Amino acid sequence: MGDTIFGKIIRREIPADIVYETNDVLAFRDLNPQAPVHVLFIPKRAIATLNDATAADAELIGKLVLAAADYAKREGFDKDGYRTVINCNEHGGQTVFHLHVHLLAGRRMTWPPG
Ligand code: 5GP
Repeated sequence: MGDTIFGKIIRREIPADIVYETNDVLAFRDLNPQAPVHVLFIPKRAIATLNDATAADAELIGKLVLAAADYAKREGFDKDGYRTVINCNEHGGQTVFHLHVHLLAGRRMTWPPG
């Protein structure tokens, strides 16, 4: 497990508003929400960035993305729609180096993103 703030959340060393959990994935509300709903989905086994993912991680990343979709359906965000985002490295805007999927919902998103 990588030594990031998200690793500490997985180990329950710091608090988070956890909304979804499976054997492989944890999801919690973003501290600085960019939409009425902003939840972060992380694999419990840390991968630093999408660049670091390999074929061996395919099943885990599949579970990660499907967890976001499952949560969105459970909460009823699927009808109006929602956005999922994976930021990678500096130009992608990544600040926490533990791979995560942002789920944003509850408002109309704009395109292109900033
Ligand atoms: P990134 O910029 O790496 O794609 O996304 C990192 C996200 O993690 C940001 O949206 C930021 O607000 C969120 N974040 C950073 N530290 C914490 C924390 O300690 N708790 C929670 N819940 N979110 C955090």
